[in-house]
Parts: sequence; structure tokens; C-alpha cells
Amino acid sequence: LLTLSDVTVRFGARTALDAVDLEIAEHEIVCVLGPSGSGKSTLLRVVAGLQEPAGGRVALDGADQSGVPVHRRGVGLMFQDHQLFPQRDVHGNVAFGLRMRGAARDEQARRVEELLDLVGLPGAGRRAVAELSGGEQQRVALARALVPSPRLLMLDEPLGQLDRSLRERLVVELRGLFGRLGTTVLAVTHDQGEAFALADRVVVMRDGRIAQTGTPLEVWQRPASAFVARFLGFDN
Ligand code: ATP
Ligand code: MG
Repeated sequence: LLTLSDVTVRFGARTALDAVDLEIAEHEIVCVLGPSGSGKSTLLRVVAGLQEPAGGRVALDGADQSGVPVHRRGVGLMFQDHQLFPQRDVHGNVAFGLRMRGAARDEQARRVEELLDLVGLPGAGRRAVAELSGGEQQRVALARALVPSPRLLMLDEPLGQLDRSLRERLVVELRGLFGRLGTTVLAVTHDQGEAFALADRVVVMRDGRIAQTGTPLEVWQRPASAFVARFLGFDN
């Protein structure tokens, strides 16, 4: 579904992505792990079309995406700094994308309720976004990212601000949901427990490069380098 070949992104003298090759198959759930500044968000931005690569190629379903604008790439996005519409209520925020797609009013209502249930905010449709806690707002943003049926859903720290017990519950629910929908997912997380629970495959990044990719079990049992082992918390 997604192929990155030799993709490089530079900010001035800094190389944020350094000749990255990555393939993601349809229905695969891939989690990107790595220290702060290792290029995780940049990877998502370059796939989304928010960042032009200095070199290399991003292809979706075999089609080169250079010059293809964000809204024509068929990808769903939820970024670290999610932006909700503060003047709309929860329903308005989640239904926004449905309305843009011309969904009928009762279909919108049904879908919004379904998504709010899923993220643990049942019946919250009429609450004002400004009244919600940070974690609740993040759940609204997650519900909104799930609205379209994108061929690739990209999540940047989707559960970052939530407390651990809610995160653990949501991860299990999300995995089930993505499985049912057949969604292909590329998700960034700081939390390896989350990545290992959610992912079919994990990608560990270091300094703009992929240090290792493999199933959670493979990476856990055979870290490819001392860096990966250290990052996973092994003290060898
Ligand atoms: P974090 O875990 O903190 O979110 P990250 O892995 O997502 O980190 P990126 O945001 O991809 O890291 O950044 C990779 C590198 O590129 C960093 O060194 C960062 O400072 C740099 N960078 C990212 N965006 C820009 C930008 N717009 N202008 C200049 N430098 C940038
Ligand atoms: Mg980031």
C-alpha cells in the first residue's frame, strides 16, 4: 500500500529523515518508536504530503505522490497537536468530516455516537469542547480521525495524554476496530508497551534512520543493535 524509497527530508543543515526505505502492506498496523527528534513525526508528515522530501519517493498503491496535495492522498491524520474547533461542540467536531462528505443527518448522528462510544465518551455529543479535559479532547480528536474510511490512517501519539489504564483499554479496542475495518495504520508512539500491543510490526527510528523493523516479538527477542536494546530498556 505504502512504499517509501530512499526518502530524505532536511531542515537546513539538519537531516530529519535520512534515506528511509519502508513498505507497509494493506491491513498492516505499524507502530513507529524512537527517541524525541528521531524523525517519527516527519515520517508521517512526508507521507501525508505536509512535507516535501528533498529526495526519494513516496508511493501509495504504486502511484508516486510527489505534488499530490494532502486531501487527495486518501490518508487520515491525527497529529500530536490536534486542533479541535473550540466553538463547536463534540458532535460538531466529529461530524465535520461526515458533513463534508455529504452524509445524511441521521447517518451522521449514528456514526458520531458509534465513534464516541468507541473512544469512551458515550453521550458526550453536546458537550462543549472547551469544557473537556486534555485527555477527553484527545479522544474527540481520535474519533474525528476515524471518521473517513482512509486507505491509510496515520496517528501521531494518539493516546499520548491519556492515563495508562484508559490507554491500555483503548489500544485493545483500537486493534479490534482496525482489524474489523481492515484499516492500514501507521502510528507513532513513545510507549513501547502500546506499540507492542497495537502493532503487527514495529519500526524503531534513530537519527532519521530506521534502526530496526520487525514484529514486536522479533524486536523484543532480537534487538538489532545495542541502541535498540537500550531503547527497549535492556541494560546490556
Ligand atoms: P518527538 O518524539 O519529540 O515528537 P520526532 O521523532 O517526532 O520527535 P521530528 O518532529 O520528526 O521528531 O523531528 C526530527 C528532527 O527534525 C528534529 O531534529 C527536529 O528538530 C527537526 N525538525 C522537525 N520539524 C522541523 C521544522 N519544521 N523545522 C526545522 N526542524 C525541524
Ligand atoms: Mg513527533
